[in-house]
Amino acid sequence: MSATAFDELAKAFRGPLVRPGDSGYEEGRRIWNGSIDRHPSLIAYCTGAADVIAAVRCAGPAGPAAGLPVAVRGGGHSFPGQSVCDDGLVIDLSLMKGIRVDPATLTVRAQAGVLLGELDHETQAFGLAVPAGIVTHTGLAGLTLGGGIGWLMRKYGLTIDQLLSVDLVTADGTLLKASEDENPDLFWGVRGGGGNFGVVTEFEFRLNPVGPVVLAGPIVWNMADSARLMRFYRDWITDVPDDLTTAVMHRKAPPLPFVPAELHGKPVVMVVCCYAGPVEEGEEVLRALRGWGPPPVLDLCVPKPFTEHQAMFDASFPHGRWYYFKSCDVDRLGDEVIDTVAEHAARIVSPFTAFPIFQLGGAISGVGEDETAFGGRGAGHTININGTCEGPEGFEQEREWARGLWSALAPHRTGVYSNFLMEEGEERVREAYGPEKYRRLRELKRRYDPGNLFRLNQNIPPAA
Ligand code: FAD
Repeated sequence: MSATAFDELAKAFRGPLVRPGDSGYEEGRRIWNGSIDRHPSLIAYCTGAADVIAAVRCAGPAGPAAGLPVAVRGGGHSFPGQSVCDDGLVIDLSLMKGIRVDPATLTVRAQAGVLLGELDHETQAFGLAVPAGIVTHTGLAGLTLGGGIGWLMRKYGLTIDQLLSVDLVTADGTLLKASEDENPDLFWGVRGGGGNFGVVTEFEFRLNPVGPVVLAGPIVWNMADSARLMRFYRDWITDVPDDLTTAVMHRKAPPLPFVPAELHGKPVVMVVCCYAGPVEEGEEVLRALRGWGPPPVLDLCVPKPFTEHQAMFDASFPHGRWYYFKSCDVDRLGDEVIDTVAEHAARIVSPFTAFPIFQLGGAISGVGEDETAFGGRGAGHTININGTCEGPEGFEQEREWARGLWSALAPHRTGVYSNFLMEEGEERVREAYGPEKYRRLRELKRRYDPGNLFRLNQNIPPAA
């Protein structure tokens, strides 16, 4: 970035501007996935919409830094690290932490730097929640723009299904509101289309009652029982209530305080549950799962504050480890899918590799496939194959393991959740939306970002 461009931005900008060599630069260029090592030329820490407008205008087509790559960062949890770039501008929103709950209208406004745990903290004070993800240090912004799946999704839908409006700065530096009534085409696109259309500065969501105590946590068996457990599970979930959302997870049991020492490092399979209705009803629903076969080796599914359940996986997916992902949706857990998953899970080497198979359905499929840009509402499950190491040592092996399982699932794959993609090329982005929605997204991109300023994302190129 030229000195002139920097000086011009500095005049219009209130937050910190951090360049290579400045204090805080090394920390500021790091994101959650430790395998990403990029060196931006400037990190612009926005304090509000005015700073976002200044940064976008600076790098936009008519700005002094036109042509500079632009990355947009909310919580910094992009799997492939698309929120940081080499030799470009990072528009960082992490200082924008405003949250305002209105219990009278059952709505909440949250700025783009809010993390999921921060949002839950405010909303749960009123026994309310927005359905969102399963790790509290994930950014609300990136998660919402891709769709947002988590423990409340079968009851209240995806995060975008409770989204009422966004404030967004488009590529020409204009702040727009998008909702069902204002710029509805844009509102359709931001509900699943990621950061392609501009920088969201603020979100407004509808709130729904949750807990504050829910029946939630993992019920754990030896991994040797995986194939039998999953056969029971796929039949059992066909008529569980939408209050219940579950995920099957395979891994080596971690040495966490709530895991008995004799299990540490042992291969296990667990069904993680969250029953978002009355606890006694949940106990009744889970009775069959608890009794399907061999007794669980650990049962941590107990009444607890929703916020405690939300934080349960935080320690398993910390900042700085090396993570690699391959993901896909499947319609159902047929015998071949189950046997493939069980066989590959038994080959996990790293003590940190853990992969969830999320149960979808319920309220997610209650919204029409074309009502929002999100693709795959009819899928039965989304599988997030995650190979993890402490650092580079052993990473290649975990990566090969993840690719191996994903390839073996090829005959059964029906799509992919865009927030679970690495940098896998245009074909895979198209797969996330399907051909018709992808075409519509490209038209929208042409309208709002014809020069593809916002391209460091699961990119939708503007229609020709
Ligand atoms: P960032 O890296 O900051 O941003 C990712 C991308 O989003 C950016 O490249 C940019 O294109 C876009 N973006 C971010 N902020 C803005 C903005 N304000 N305006 C416009 N574009 C923006 N997903 C789920 O659905 N459910 C889960 O339970 C879940 N769990 C996760 C747990 C972990 C530990 C991690 C790492 C990820 C998880 N994800 C989950 C995936 C998650 O949804 C994506 O990684 C998402 O991009 C994270 O958002 P972020 O703001 O933290 O990311």
